[in-house]
Amino acid sequence: MTTLKDFNFQNKKALIRVDFNVPLNEAFEVTDATRIQAAKSTIIDVLESGGSAILMSHLGRPKGVEEQFSLKHIVSKVTEVLGVQVKFVDDCVGETVEEVATNLQPGEVLLLENLRFYSEEKKGDKDFAEKLSKLGDIYINDAFGTAHRAHASTAIIAEFFSGNKCFGNLLAKEIESIDKVLNNSEKPVLAILGGAKVSSKITVIENILDKVDHLMIGGGMTFTFIKAQGGSIGDSICEDDKMELALDILMQAKAKGVQVHIPVDVVAANKFSNDAETQVVEVSKIPDGWQGLDVGPKTIENFDTVVNQSKTILWNGPLGVFEMESFSKGTIELGNSIDNATQNGTFSLVGGGDSVAAVKQFGFADKVSYVSTGGGAMLEMLEGKTLPGIEAILK
Ligand code: AMP
Repeated sequence: MTTLKDFNFQNKKALIRVDFNVPLNEAFEVTDATRIQAAKSTIIDVLESGGSAILMSHLGRPKGVEEQFSLKHIVSKVTEVLGVQVKFVDDCVGETVEEVATNLQPGEVLLLENLRFYSEEKKGDKDFAEKLSKLGDIYINDAFGTAHRAHASTAIIAEFFSGNKCFGNLLAKEIESIDKVLNNSEKPVLAILGGAKVSSKITVIENILDKVDHLMIGGGMTFTFIKAQGGSIGDSICEDDKMELALDILMQAKAKGVQVHIPVDVVAANKFSNDAETQVVEVSKIPDGWQGLDVGPKTIENFDTVVNQSKTILWNGPLGVFEMESFSKGTIELGNSIDNATQNGTFSLVGGGDSVAAVKQFGFADKVSYVSTGGGAMLEMLEGKTLPGIEAILK
């Protein structure tokens, strides 16, 4: 894997694709700078080794040039995070931009305007990619969040940097972490899949069955499995058209020697609300009018045992409706178990949308080995797909 270490950036201009698609409030202030912080290490490494950095990113989903999506709004935040005054140019291709880029001195940082002001970006337009490529000597992709897209700046552009392209520190870490779980893992390997639906995780489950020793199922998708096995799930969320698939997964798991752990009890509620009446019941005996919204105490105990026996853990998706305090316990306790296992040397990777929100909300982000920054990109890697942004660098 080609990384920053393979290049000498002295007097070179690094053209870096970052993911600065950050949330802004009504006053156009950055409300969460996590993604800017995540790119810092790559940018600083380039500057400290004598190079200059030209940063390109998208922000939001503009239709053409829309001021509200201008990256000018984030210049002060990027300056603050990097500790280096960031220059800004109000376009990302063309003569003016090329001139500003040419005059950039070692140690300086230039932020380009939103790539998606040009529809060519998302179309993966080759001419547009070539125009971008004129701005730098070495191309670095550090945007994991968009690595699953074959856009001009994330993949196509790499063609113009033969021998002069590499992964940024963030992207390299993401690839290494997922590889550590899927291919170079210490056994036993446990995958925990929660969240709302079987349908959104099915390809992930099928792909990882060959890689894991234990599969733990939680969250809303539990009930499709339970109903498929003949249990009563009351009013719990269920995808009836996926029941056959659920049984097939269980059979495949058995054939491959994967132990499947499904909740045995749940916290059932009489309505989908934080102030609902609740009762703990067996997972397959949920009364009509009640719905399972979190895992129960026996399940928490069972899961804790499995987590603490595992040497590699992948966690995607909450075990219950963690957004409501009354149904957050299962997810919090799972976080505690993973924290404990991690302290005892287990490698733990959390990723994919809502589980990241959950680990941040409950303070587990620093307690697991790695929290992935790219929801969609991570899921596609777990599905076994080759991501265009990664392939373009490897080519
Ligand atoms: P996902 O994006 O597929 O990871 O799903 C995450 C969502 O699943 C969260 O918003 C949770 O509130 C929801 N969820 C988890 N458990 C349940 C459940 N038992 N019933 C309904 N929704 C759930």
